Amino acid sequence: MRKYNENGQLGAVCCNMCGKKMIVKEGILREGAACFDQAWGYFSEKDGEVHHFDLCEECYDRLTAEFCLPVDVEECLEYL
Ligand SMILES: [Zn+2]
Repeated sequence: MRKYNENGQLGAVCCNMCGKKMIVKEGILREGAACFDQAWGYFSEKDGEVHHFDLCEECYDRLTAEFCLPVDVEECLEYL
């Protein structure tokens, strides 16, 4: 979950799974987090809805460890 200040700068990020407040300094998230922005389409039950949530790295690891197929991982050549 993200909160923005009146000036549009990122103010706070909390993990939706455990509620942990992550470190944000000067509008920049200073720790590993996974950010999800899912726009549901026509063939879903949620057509027209956009869902946003954030996970801290620990919750991301816990969640993906339960996948029956592993996450695809590749080397990142440029920092995104
Ligand atoms: Zn968490």
